[in-house]
Amino acid sequence: MLVHKLEISKPLWQQLIRDLARTGMGVKESGAFLLGNMEPSRVVTEYLLYSDIAPDSQHVNYVLLRGRHMAKVWDICELRKLRVVADIHTHPGVPIQSPSDRDNPIVSIAGHVALIVPNFAKGLVVPSSLGFHEFQGQGEWRSWFRGEAAALLNITG
Ligand SMILES: [Zn+2]
Repeated sequence: MLVHKLEISKPLWQQLIRDLARTGMGVKESGAFLLGNMEPSRVVTEYLLYSDIAPDSQHVNYVLLRGRHMAKVWDICELRKLRVVADIHTHPGVPIQSPSDRDNPIVSIAGHVALIVPNFAKGLVVPSSLGFHEFQGQGEWRSWFRGEAAALLNITG
């Protein structure tokens, strides 16, 4: 079974959550590609905000990522010798996937992880408030919440 823990340092995590809250301005969804290494374990070392990758595609409520945006991300990954380890985005309410989230994995490879942060990342965001969603391939996902989600996100240092 595919279950891939993610690791991220505490300062990077805190900065990411602050940036998600800031770019969503408390009123719209925001997100980021989480870049890093996959082997021997999944470690996030930096991130690219959707608002930086797709400034031309910031809608009132959401961000629409297109092929040209993804091409930009792959170029950056190649340049920095990194991979897209996961993605993260905010929701106005609970961290469950929308039909569009389920239908459009950011990376359509089994094992890809999509994190969802509730409440537009406002206030205190703890790992147990997240939705941890892992693409299984063939349109299928597995989801973890609360303590189980927290156990899959290792915030170090
Ligand atoms: Zn969503």
